[in-house]
Amino acid sequence: MKIAVIGTGYVGLPTGVGLAELGNDVICIDKDENKINALKNGNLTIFEDGLPELFAKNVKSGKIKFTMSTKEGVENADVVILAVGTPPNPITKEADMKYIHAASEELAQYITGYTVVAVKSTVPVNTGDEVEKIIAAQNPKGEFDVVSLPEFLREGFAVHDFFNPDRIVVGANSERAKEKIKELYAPFEGKTNILYVKRRSSETIKYASNAFLAMKIQYINEMADFCEKSGADVYEVAKGMGLDSRIGNKFLNPGPGYGGFCFPKDTNAMAYMGRVKGVDLSLIEATIRGNDKRKINMAKRILEEVSNIRCPVVAVLGAAFKGGTDDCRESPAMQIVEVLLEKGAKIRLYDPEALENAKKILGDKVYYATDMYDAIKGADVLTILTEWEDFKSLDLQKTKTLLKNPKIVDLRNLINRDEAISLGFEVKAIGVM
Ligand code: NAD
Repeated sequence: MKIAVIGTGYVGLPTGVGLAELGNDVICIDKDENKINALKNGNLTIFEDGLPELFAKNVKSGKIKFTMSTKEGVENADVVILAVGTPPNPITKEADMKYIHAASEELAQYITGYTVVAVKSTVPVNTGDEVEKIIAAQNPKGEFDVVSLPEFLREGFAVHDFFNPDRIVVGANSERAKEKIKELYAPFEGKTNILYVKRRSSETIKYASNAFLAMKIQYINEMADFCEKSGADVYEVAKGMGLDSRIGNKFLNPGPGYGGFCFPKDTNAMAYMGRVKGVDLSLIEATIRGNDKRKINMAKRILEEVSNIRCPVVAVLGAAFKGGTDDCRESPAMQIVEVLLEKGAKIRLYDPEALENAKKILGDKVYYATDMYDAIKGADVLTILTEWEDFKSLDLQKTKTLLKNPKIVDLRNLINRDEAISLGFEVKAIGVM
Protein backbone atom coordinates (compact mmCIF):
# COMPACT_ATOMS: atom_id res chain seq x y z
CA MET A 1 0.00 0.00 0.00
CA LYS A 2 1.01 3.61 -0.43
CA ILE A 3 1.05 5.37 2.92
CA ALA A 4 1.61 9.01 3.83
CA VAL A 5 2.44 9.84 7.44
CA ILE A 6 1.93 13.49 8.40
CA GLY A 7 4.05 14.41 11.43
CA THR A 8 7.39 12.70 11.80
CA GLY A 9 7.90 12.74 15.56
CA TYR A 10 7.97 10.11 18.31
CA VAL A 11 4.88 8.44 16.83
CA GLY A 12 5.04 9.24 13.12
CA LEU A 13 8.63 8.19 12.56
CA PRO A 14 8.56 4.71 14.15
CA THR A 15 5.13 4.15 12.56
CA GLY A 16 6.44 5.11 9.12
CA VAL A 17 9.54 2.96 9.50
CA GLY A 18 7.46 0.01 10.79
CA LEU A 19 4.98 0.24 7.91
CA ALA A 20 7.86 0.43 5.42
CA GLU A 21 9.40 -2.65 6.99
CA LEU A 22 6.08 -4.45 6.42
CA GLY A 23 6.46 -3.77 2.69
CA ASN A 24 4.44 -0.58 2.22
CA ASP A 25 5.69 2.46 0.32
CA VAL A 26 5.83 5.20 2.93
CA ILE A 27 6.32 8.94 2.65
CA CYS A 28 6.80 10.81 5.91
CA ILE A 29 5.87 14.48 5.85
CA ASP A 30 6.88 17.15 8.31
CA LYS A 31 6.86 20.95 8.45
CA ASP A 32 10.11 21.00 10.36
CA GLU A 33 12.82 21.56 7.76
CA ASN A 34 15.66 20.54 10.09
CA LYS A 35 13.94 17.23 10.81
CA ILE A 36 13.28 16.44 7.16
CA ASN A 37 16.81 17.42 6.10
CA ALA A 38 18.33 15.27 8.83
CA LEU A 39 16.15 12.29 7.89
CA LYS A 40 16.87 12.74 4.18
CA ASN A 41 20.56 12.66 5.07
CA GLY A 42 20.10 9.39 6.91
CA ASN A 43 20.21 10.88 10.42
CA LEU A 44 17.57 9.89 12.95
CA THR A 45 15.89 12.69 14.89
CA ILE A 46 14.78 10.68 17.93
CA PHE A 47 16.34 8.02 20.11
CA GLU A 48 14.47 4.71 19.98
CA ASP A 49 15.89 1.28 20.59
CA GLY A 50 16.06 -0.75 17.35
CA LEU A 51 15.07 2.16 15.13
CA PRO A 52 18.49 2.95 13.59
CA GLU A 53 18.82 -0.45 11.92
CA LEU A 54 15.27 -0.53 10.49
CA PHE A 55 15.49 3.11 9.43
CA ALA A 56 18.77 2.57 7.55
CA LYS A 57 17.48 -0.59 5.89
CA ASN A 58 14.26 0.98 4.62
CA VAL A 59 15.90 4.24 3.52
CA LYS A 60 18.36 2.16 1.53
CA SER A 61 15.66 0.07 -0.12
CA GLY A 62 13.65 3.21 -0.93
CA LYS A 63 10.60 1.95 0.99
CA ILE A 64 10.56 5.12 3.10
CA LYS A 65 11.04 8.68 1.91
CA PHE A 66 10.84 12.07 3.57
CA THR A 67 9.41 15.34 2.35
CA MET A 68 8.11 18.72 3.46
CA SER A 69 5.54 18.68 0.68
CA THR A 70 2.07 17.51 1.72
CA LYS A 71 1.20 17.29 -1.97
CA GLU A 72 4.03 14.88 -2.75
CA GLY A 73 3.11 12.65 0.15
CA VAL A 74 -0.68 12.66 -0.06
CA GLU A 75 -1.49 12.40 -3.75
CA ASN A 76 -1.70 8.73 -4.67
CA ALA A 77 -1.68 7.60 -1.02
CA ASP A 78 -4.14 4.85 -0.08
CA VAL A 79 -3.93 5.77 3.57
CA VAL A 80 -2.89 9.11 5.08
CA ILE A 81 -1.92 8.83 8.74
CA LEU A 82 -2.17 11.95 10.87
CA ALA A 83 0.47 11.87 13.61
CA VAL A 84 0.88 15.56 14.41
CA GLY A 85 1.07 16.85 17.96
CA THR A 86 -1.97 17.66 20.11
CA PRO A 87 -0.28 19.64 22.90
CA PRO A 88 -2.17 20.95 25.90
CA ASN A 89 -3.60 24.45 25.80
CA PRO A 90 -1.50 26.24 28.45
CA ILE A 91 -4.55 27.66 30.23
CA THR A 92 -7.44 25.21 29.85
CA LYS A 93 -5.22 22.11 29.35
CA GLU A 94 -7.62 20.86 26.66
CA ALA A 95 -5.98 19.26 23.61
CA ASP A 96 -4.92 21.99 21.19
CA MET A 97 -6.19 20.96 17.78
CA LYS A 98 -4.45 23.55 15.63
CA TYR A 99 -2.01 21.08 14.05
CA ILE A 100 -4.76 18.54 13.31
CA HIS A 101 -6.95 21.23 11.74
CA ALA A 102 -4.10 22.70 9.69
CA ALA A 103 -2.89 19.29 8.47
CA SER A 104 -6.48 18.27 7.55
CA GLU A 105 -6.95 21.43 5.50
CA GLU A 106 -3.62 20.92 3.74
CA LEU A 107 -4.09 17.25 2.91
CA ALA A 108 -7.68 17.74 1.70
CA GLN A 109 -6.71 19.37 -1.55
CA TYR A 110 -4.36 16.54 -2.60
CA ILE A 111 -6.67 13.58 -2.11
CA THR A 112 -6.94 11.61 -5.34
CA GLY A 113 -9.01 8.44 -5.58
CA TYR A 114 -10.47 6.77 -2.50
CA THR A 115 -8.29 7.64 0.49
CA VAL A 116 -8.55 6.71 4.14
CA VAL A 117 -7.43 9.43 6.53
CA ALA A 118 -6.41 7.74 9.77
CA VAL A 119 -6.08 9.90 12.87
CA LYS A 120 -3.28 8.43 14.97
CA SER A 121 -2.76 11.52 17.12
CA THR A 122 -4.52 11.44 20.48
CA VAL A 123 -7.58 13.58 19.91
CA PRO A 124 -10.79 14.53 21.71
CA VAL A 125 -13.96 12.62 21.01
CA ASN A 126 -15.64 13.99 17.89
CA THR A 127 -12.39 14.88 16.13
CA GLY A 128 -13.08 12.35 13.37
CA ASP A 129 -16.31 14.21 12.59
CA GLU A 130 -14.43 17.53 12.56
CA VAL A 131 -11.68 16.26 10.26
CA GLU A 132 -14.33 14.85 7.95
CA LYS A 133 -16.04 18.25 7.74
CA ILE A 134 -12.76 20.11 7.11
CA ILE A 135 -11.75 17.80 4.27
CA ALA A 136 -15.22 17.79 2.70
CA ALA A 137 -15.33 21.60 2.80
CA GLN A 138 -11.93 21.89 1.08
CA ASN A 139 -12.49 19.09 -1.41
CA PRO A 140 -16.22 18.44 -1.90
CA LYS A 141 -15.54 15.89 -4.65
CA GLY A 142 -12.88 14.02 -2.70
CA GLU A 143 -13.59 10.36 -2.04
CA PHE A 144 -12.44 9.62 1.49
CA ASP A 145 -13.25 8.25 4.93
CA VAL A 146 -11.81 9.30 8.27
CA VAL A 147 -10.95 6.61 10.80
CA SER A 148 -9.56 6.76 14.32
CA LEU A 149 -6.43 4.66 14.77
CA PRO A 150 -5.13 5.49 18.25
CA GLU A 151 -1.51 4.81 19.04
CA PHE A 152 -0.56 2.86 22.16
CA LEU A 153 3.21 2.60 21.72
CA ARG A 154 5.48 3.29 24.67
CA GLU A 155 8.35 5.66 24.02
CA GLY A 156 11.62 3.76 24.33
CA PHE A 157 9.86 0.61 23.07
CA ALA A 158 8.29 2.11 19.95
CA VAL A 159 9.76 -0.41 17.53
CA HIS A 160 8.99 -3.38 19.76
CA ASP A 161 5.45 -2.13 20.33
CA PHE A 162 4.86 -1.47 16.64
CA PHE A 163 5.58 -5.10 15.80
CA ASN A 164 4.08 -6.58 18.98
CA PRO A 165 1.04 -4.49 19.87
CA ASP A 166 -1.20 -5.58 22.77
CA ARG A 167 -4.11 -4.57 20.59
CA ILE A 168 -4.99 -2.53 17.55
CA VAL A 169 -8.08 -0.35 17.87
CA VAL A 170 -9.81 0.87 14.74
CA GLY A 171 -12.66 3.35 14.87
CA ALA A 172 -14.35 3.18 11.49
CA ASN A 173 -17.86 4.22 10.61
CA SER A 174 -17.83 2.76 7.08
CA GLU A 175 -17.28 -0.79 5.80
CA ARG A 176 -15.07 0.49 2.98
CA ALA A 177 -12.68 2.20 5.39
CA LYS A 178 -12.68 -0.85 7.64
CA GLU A 179 -11.65 -3.06 4.71
CA LYS A 180 -8.76 -0.71 3.84
CA ILE A 181 -7.48 -0.73 7.42
CA LYS A 182 -7.86 -4.52 7.53
CA GLU A 183 -5.55 -4.68 4.52
CA LEU A 184 -3.06 -2.35 6.25
CA TYR A 185 -3.02 -4.49 9.38
CA ALA A 186 -3.19 -7.85 7.59
CA PRO A 187 0.31 -8.81 8.88
CA PHE A 188 -1.07 -8.61 12.44
CA GLU A 189 -4.20 -10.69 11.75
CA GLY A 190 -4.32 -13.63 14.18
CA LYS A 191 -1.30 -12.31 16.11
CA THR A 192 -3.00 -9.66 18.20
CA ASN A 193 -6.48 -8.42 19.04
CA ILE A 194 -7.79 -6.11 16.35
CA LEU A 195 -10.84 -4.33 17.65
CA TYR A 196 -13.20 -2.57 15.26
CA VAL A 197 -15.45 -0.06 17.01
CA LYS A 198 -17.34 3.16 16.40
CA ARG A 199 -15.06 6.10 15.70
CA ARG A 200 -16.06 7.94 18.89
CA SER A 201 -15.50 4.80 20.96
CA SER A 202 -12.02 4.47 19.52
CA GLU A 203 -11.20 8.11 20.37
CA THR A 204 -12.45 7.52 23.91
CA ILE A 205 -10.52 4.24 24.34
CA LYS A 206 -7.21 6.08 23.99
CA TYR A 207 -7.98 8.67 26.68
CA ALA A 208 -9.71 6.19 28.96
CA SER A 209 -6.68 3.87 28.77
CA ASN A 210 -4.09 6.55 29.46
CA ALA A 211 -6.11 8.05 32.30
CA PHE A 212 -6.46 4.59 33.85
CA LEU A 213 -2.73 3.90 33.62
CA ALA A 214 -1.91 7.30 35.12
CA MET A 215 -4.33 6.55 37.95
CA LYS A 216 -2.64 3.19 38.56
CA ILE A 217 0.74 4.92 38.87
CA GLN A 218 -0.65 7.55 41.22
CA TYR A 219 -2.29 4.78 43.25
CA ILE A 220 0.93 2.82 43.79
CA ASN A 221 2.75 6.07 44.57
CA GLU A 222 0.19 6.78 47.30
CA MET A 223 0.68 3.22 48.58
CA ALA A 224 4.45 3.87 48.58
CA ASP A 225 3.93 6.92 50.81
CA PHE A 226 1.76 4.81 53.08
CA CYS A 227 4.37 2.02 53.23
CA GLU A 228 7.08 4.51 54.21
CA LYS A 229 5.00 5.59 57.21
CA SER A 230 3.81 2.13 58.18
CA GLY A 231 6.92 -0.01 57.82
CA ALA A 232 5.59 -2.06 54.92
CA ASP A 233 7.57 -2.60 51.71
CA VAL A 234 5.80 -1.27 48.62
CA TYR A 235 7.42 -3.91 46.39
CA GLU A 236 6.01 -6.71 48.52
CA VAL A 237 2.65 -4.94 48.53
CA ALA A 238 2.74 -4.46 44.74
CA LYS A 239 3.68 -8.09 44.23
CA GLY A 240 0.84 -9.28 46.45
CA MET A 241 -1.62 -7.00 44.68
CA GLY A 242 -0.38 -7.87 41.21
CA LEU A 243 -0.89 -11.61 41.68
CA ASP A 244 -4.62 -10.88 41.53
CA SER A 245 -5.35 -11.14 37.82
CA ARG A 246 -8.08 -8.53 38.18
CA ILE A 247 -5.39 -6.03 39.22
CA GLY A 248 -2.45 -7.26 37.15
CA ASN A 249 1.22 -6.78 37.95
CA LYS A 250 2.06 -4.00 35.48
CA PHE A 251 2.28 -0.32 36.32
CA LEU A 252 2.72 -0.97 40.01
CA ASN A 253 6.20 0.52 40.08
CA PRO A 254 6.48 3.48 42.46
CA GLY A 255 8.51 6.54 41.52
CA PRO A 256 8.60 10.33 41.43
CA GLY A 257 5.31 10.63 39.50
CA TYR A 258 4.26 10.06 35.94
CA GLY A 259 5.38 12.35 33.13
CA GLY A 260 6.10 12.42 29.42
CA PHE A 261 4.19 13.79 26.51
CA CYS A 262 1.14 11.54 27.01
CA PHE A 263 -0.11 10.90 30.55
CA PRO A 264 -0.08 14.50 31.85
CA LYS A 265 -1.66 15.97 28.75
CA ASP A 266 -4.13 13.14 28.19
CA THR A 267 -5.39 13.09 31.79
CA ASN A 268 -5.83 16.87 31.62
CA ALA A 269 -7.58 16.69 28.25
CA MET A 270 -9.92 13.96 29.52
CA ALA A 271 -10.72 15.92 32.68
CA TYR A 272 -11.43 18.97 30.52
CA MET A 273 -13.80 16.95 28.31
CA GLY A 274 -15.59 15.69 31.42
CA ARG A 275 -16.05 19.25 32.71
CA VAL A 276 -17.34 20.45 29.35
CA LYS A 277 -19.80 17.57 29.10
CA GLY A 278 -20.85 17.93 32.74
CA VAL A 279 -19.52 14.49 33.71
CA ASP A 280 -17.88 14.05 37.11
CA LEU A 281 -14.45 12.50 36.40
CA SER A 282 -13.29 12.92 40.00
CA LEU A 283 -10.83 9.99 39.93
CA ILE A 284 -8.97 11.56 37.02
CA GLU A 285 -9.07 15.03 38.63
CA ALA A 286 -7.61 13.59 41.86
CA THR A 287 -4.92 11.73 39.91
CA ILE A 288 -3.78 14.94 38.24
CA ARG A 289 -3.67 16.87 41.53
CA GLY A 290 -1.85 14.05 43.32
CA ASN A 291 0.75 13.67 40.59
CA ASP A 292 1.43 17.42 40.42
CA LYS A 293 1.91 17.56 44.19
CA ARG A 294 4.15 14.52 44.15
CA LYS A 295 6.89 16.19 42.12
CA ILE A 296 7.06 19.07 44.62
CA ASN A 297 7.17 16.60 47.50
CA MET A 298 10.00 14.70 45.80
CA ALA A 299 12.04 17.90 45.50
CA LYS A 300 11.39 18.57 49.20
CA ARG A 301 12.71 15.10 50.04
CA ILE A 302 15.98 15.87 48.30
CA LEU A 303 16.29 19.29 49.95
CA GLU A 304 15.66 17.80 53.42
CA GLU A 305 18.91 15.88 53.01
CA VAL A 306 20.87 19.10 52.58
CA SER A 307 18.80 21.43 54.76
CA ASN A 308 21.90 22.49 56.69
CA ILE A 309 23.76 23.65 53.56
CA ARG A 310 23.31 27.04 51.86
CA CYS A 311 23.13 26.64 48.06
CA PRO A 312 23.62 22.87 48.13
CA VAL A 313 25.02 21.10 45.09
CA VAL A 314 22.74 18.29 43.91
CA ALA A 315 23.99 15.61 41.53
CA VAL A 316 21.05 14.54 39.37
CA LEU A 317 21.14 11.33 37.36
CA GLY A 318 18.38 11.35 34.78
CA ALA A 319 16.59 14.00 32.74
CA ALA A 320 14.31 11.97 30.43
CA PHE A 321 10.80 11.23 31.68
CA LYS A 322 11.72 7.54 31.71
CA GLY A 323 14.59 5.29 30.71
CA GLY A 324 15.08 4.35 27.06
CA THR A 325 14.05 7.70 25.60
CA ASP A 326 15.58 11.14 25.07
CA ASP A 327 12.20 12.80 25.63
CA CYS A 328 12.15 15.38 28.43
CA ARG A 329 8.65 16.73 27.82
CA GLU A 330 6.79 16.89 31.16
CA SER A 331 9.60 14.86 32.67
CA PRO A 332 9.33 14.56 36.48
CA ALA A 333 13.12 14.98 36.49
CA MET A 334 12.86 18.38 34.78
CA GLN A 335 10.07 19.50 37.11
CA ILE A 336 11.97 18.39 40.23
CA VAL A 337 15.14 20.14 39.01
CA GLU A 338 13.14 23.35 38.44
CA VAL A 339 11.93 23.26 42.08
CA LEU A 340 15.46 22.56 43.34
CA LEU A 341 16.77 25.53 41.35
CA GLU A 342 14.01 27.79 42.70
CA LYS A 343 15.09 26.83 46.22
CA GLY A 344 18.67 27.85 45.49
CA ALA A 345 20.30 24.49 44.79
CA LYS A 346 23.02 24.09 42.17
CA ILE A 347 22.53 21.16 39.81
CA ARG A 348 25.03 18.84 38.14
CA LEU A 349 22.93 16.88 35.63
CA TYR A 350 23.68 13.76 33.65
CA ASP A 351 21.55 11.63 31.34
CA PRO A 352 22.89 9.13 28.77
CA GLU A 353 20.59 10.32 25.95
CA ALA A 354 18.48 13.30 26.96
CA LEU A 355 20.92 16.13 27.73
CA GLU A 356 20.30 17.91 24.41
CA ASN A 357 16.57 17.97 25.11
CA ALA A 358 17.17 18.93 28.75
CA LYS A 359 19.19 21.93 27.53
CA LYS A 360 16.14 23.15 25.59
CA ILE A 361 14.23 23.31 28.88
CA LEU A 362 16.86 24.26 31.45
CA GLY A 363 19.24 26.31 29.29
CA ASP A 364 22.34 27.37 31.21
CA LYS A 365 20.71 27.04 34.63
CA VAL A 366 22.47 23.73 35.34
CA TYR A 367 25.83 22.09 34.74
CA TYR A 368 25.62 19.32 32.10
CA ALA A 369 27.96 16.53 33.16
CA THR A 370 29.92 14.32 30.79
CA ASP A 371 29.16 11.13 32.71
CA MET A 372 27.65 9.87 35.98
CA TYR A 373 30.81 10.51 37.99
CA ASP A 374 31.31 13.99 36.58
CA ALA A 375 27.80 14.80 37.86
CA ILE A 376 28.53 13.35 41.28
CA LYS A 377 31.92 15.06 41.74
CA GLY A 378 31.76 17.47 44.70
CA ALA A 379 27.97 17.26 45.16
CA ASP A 380 26.33 17.35 48.58
CA VAL A 381 23.73 14.75 47.70
CA LEU A 382 23.02 12.41 44.79
CA THR A 383 19.54 11.83 43.45
CA ILE A 384 18.40 9.38 40.78
CA LEU A 385 15.39 10.58 38.79
CA THR A 386 15.22 8.38 35.65
CA GLU A 387 15.34 4.58 35.52
CA TRP A 388 18.23 4.13 33.09
CA GLU A 389 19.84 0.68 33.17
CA ASP A 390 23.26 2.40 33.17
CA PHE A 391 22.58 3.88 36.60
CA LYS A 392 22.20 0.43 38.12
CA SER A 393 25.89 -0.17 37.52
CA LEU A 394 26.94 2.93 39.46
CA ASP A 395 30.19 2.18 41.30
CA LEU A 396 29.20 3.02 44.87
CA GLN A 397 32.75 2.96 46.23
CA LYS A 398 33.79 5.52 43.65
CA THR A 399 30.61 7.52 44.25
CA LYS A 400 31.46 7.75 47.95
CA THR A 401 34.88 9.18 47.23
CA LEU A 402 33.39 11.79 44.87
CA LEU A 403 30.41 12.98 46.93
CA LYS A 404 30.92 15.52 49.72
CA ASN A 405 28.31 13.72 51.84
CA PRO A 406 27.41 10.05 51.45
CA LYS A 407 23.73 10.72 50.80
CA ILE A 408 21.53 9.26 48.08
CA VAL A 409 17.89 10.01 47.36
CA ASP A 410 16.94 7.25 44.96
CA LEU A 411 13.53 8.12 43.53
CA ARG A 412 13.64 5.14 41.15
CA ASN A 413 14.90 2.55 43.64
CA LEU A 414 17.70 1.62 41.25
CA ILE A 415 20.77 1.26 43.39
CA ASN A 416 21.56 -1.66 45.64
CA ARG A 417 20.42 -0.23 48.97
CA ASP A 418 22.01 -2.89 51.17
CA GLU A 419 25.37 -2.41 49.53
CA ALA A 420 25.08 1.37 49.76
CA ILE A 421 24.14 1.25 53.44
CA SER A 422 27.00 -1.15 54.18
CA LEU A 423 29.35 1.35 52.55
CA GLY A 424 28.09 4.04 54.92
CA PHE A 425 25.61 5.85 52.68
CA GLU A 426 22.39 7.32 53.97
CA VAL A 427 19.82 6.17 51.41
CA LYS A 428 16.29 7.48 50.97
CA ALA A 429 14.22 5.30 48.64
CA ILE A 430 10.58 5.12 47.64
CA GLY A 431 8.06 3.03 49.51
CA VAL A 432 10.47 1.38 51.92
CA MET A 433 11.66 2.55 55.32
P1 NAD B 1 5.93 15.14 18.10
O1 NAD B 1 5.83 16.53 18.57
O2 NAD B 1 7.15 14.33 18.40
O3 NAD B 1 5.72 15.09 16.51
C1 NAD B 1 4.72 15.80 15.84
C2 NAD B 1 5.30 16.25 14.51
O4 NAD B 1 4.25 16.80 13.71
C3 NAD B 1 6.35 17.35 14.62
O5 NAD B 1 7.55 16.91 14.02
C4 NAD B 1 5.75 18.54 13.87
O6 NAD B 1 6.71 19.31 13.19
C5 NAD B 1 4.82 17.83 12.91
N1 NAD B 1 3.74 18.64 12.34
C6 NAD B 1 2.89 19.47 12.98
N2 NAD B 1 2.02 20.00 12.09
C7 NAD B 1 2.31 19.48 10.87
C8 NAD B 1 1.75 19.61 9.58
N3 NAD B 1 0.71 20.39 9.34
N4 NAD B 1 2.33 18.94 8.56
C9 NAD B 1 3.38 18.14 8.78
N5 NAD B 1 3.95 17.95 10.00
C10 NAD B 1 3.42 18.63 11.03
O7 NAD B 1 4.62 14.40 18.67
P2 NAD B 1 4.47 12.84 19.04
O8 NAD B 1 5.05 12.54 20.36
O9 NAD B 1 4.89 12.03 17.87
O10 NAD B 1 2.88 12.75 19.21
C11 NAD B 1 2.01 12.84 18.10
C12 NAD B 1 0.62 12.46 18.53
O11 NAD B 1 0.59 11.10 18.95
C13 NAD B 1 0.08 13.26 19.72
O12 NAD B 1 -1.30 13.46 19.58
C14 NAD B 1 0.35 12.35 20.89
O13 NAD B 1 -0.53 12.59 21.97
C15 NAD B 1 0.10 10.99 20.29
N6 NAD B 1 0.80 9.91 20.95
C16 NAD B 1 2.08 10.06 21.35
C17 NAD B 1 2.75 8.99 21.95
C18 NAD B 1 4.17 9.14 22.41
O14 NAD B 1 4.65 8.22 23.08
N7 NAD B 1 4.87 10.22 22.09
C19 NAD B 1 2.10 7.77 22.14
C20 NAD B 1 0.79 7.64 21.70
C21 NAD B 1 0.15 8.72 21.10
